[in-house]
Amino acid sequence: MKILLSDAFDPSLPERLKKFGTVTDDKSQVADCDVVLIRSKTKCTREYIDNAPKLKLIIRGGVGLDNVDLEYAKEKDITVHNTPAASSVAVAELAFAHMLAVPNRLVEAHNSMMAGKWEKKELKRTELMGKTLGLIGIGRIATELAVRAKAFGMTVIAYDKYVKSSDAASMKTLDEVLAQSDYLSLHVPLTDETRGMINKKTIASMKDGVVIINTGRGKCIVEEDVADALKSGKIGVYATDVWYSDPPDPSCPILKAPNVQLTPHIGASSKENLLRIGDIIVDILEDFTK
Ligand code: NAD
Repeated sequence: MKILLSDAFDPSLPERLKKFGTVTDDKSQVADCDVVLIRSKTKCTREYIDNAPKLKLIIRGGVGLDNVDLEYAKEKDITVHNTPAASSVAVAELAFAHMLAVPNRLVEAHNSMMAGKWEKKELKRTELMGKTLGLIGIGRIATELAVRAKAFGMTVIAYDKYVKSSDAASMKTLDEVLAQSDYLSLHVPLTDETRGMINKKTIASMKDGVVIINTGRGKCIVEEDVADALKSGKIGVYATDVWYSDPPDPSCPILKAPNVQLTPHIGASSKENLLRIGDIIVDILEDFTK
């Protein structure tokens, strides 16, 4: 069996996979591979699958499967697995780090110190305690974030189209979450229903100065609308880890907007998570080769 590591995994993984066959990270060998391991960079499109006639198994180390043509894989009898449970803590910690950095003005404080300034009076801080965090989607990641937010004294509310109750948050309608949140964090998959759900109309129903954190998917927001709302001050800060494309096109309006806090899709990239993903991949391959 030949296994292609098409994206970045923990450096220990190739050695751990040798018991299953030959392991390569040479993408030009895809036509010869039985198993492809991907994260978010590789897109397993129809064309990609057609170029890999021996392919029997795709493993996506991570949660979303929006970079795999699932229908075509099924048609070609290719099994597709992901590792949905592994990344929850890693992503929740990054969302929380974004949320904590905003009221503490960490990025501005650091940048001004590096520029030789001493803005002790100018850098006014606020606290998370007593503020309302609204979660859109209350799945694995949002639940981990809710636990952390509650420990900081926040009120946590959530809207989820498919989950009606949660121990982690008080469930509300979407309109209620939009209207009541000081901090709004997105944790839905990218689907036809969630694409562009943060847009001019939904932004208008939010509190003035709302902080939006997006570790879900870039296309859940309409970039132009968010950039306009940042310029007008309707949105206080947009903190995002996710983009329309990785990396974003230089023309992306978020890159030019004020009051943004940006990370390059590193939500799932903790050392611990990559090790957990490796463990799950080994388990999947053990089952698959039985
Ligand atoms: P999950 O499946 O546990 O939770 C997603 C929740 O969204 C579910 O409860 C589901 O009912 C809800 N939902 C689906 N459609 C909805 C809709 N139309 N309206 C409201 N709620 C809806 O997934 P998770 O593990 O918590 O991950 C959430 C998302 O985070 C993933 O789909 C992925 O897009 C993103 N993610 C990002 C990174 C990163 O590196 N930044 C890493 C992992 C996952």
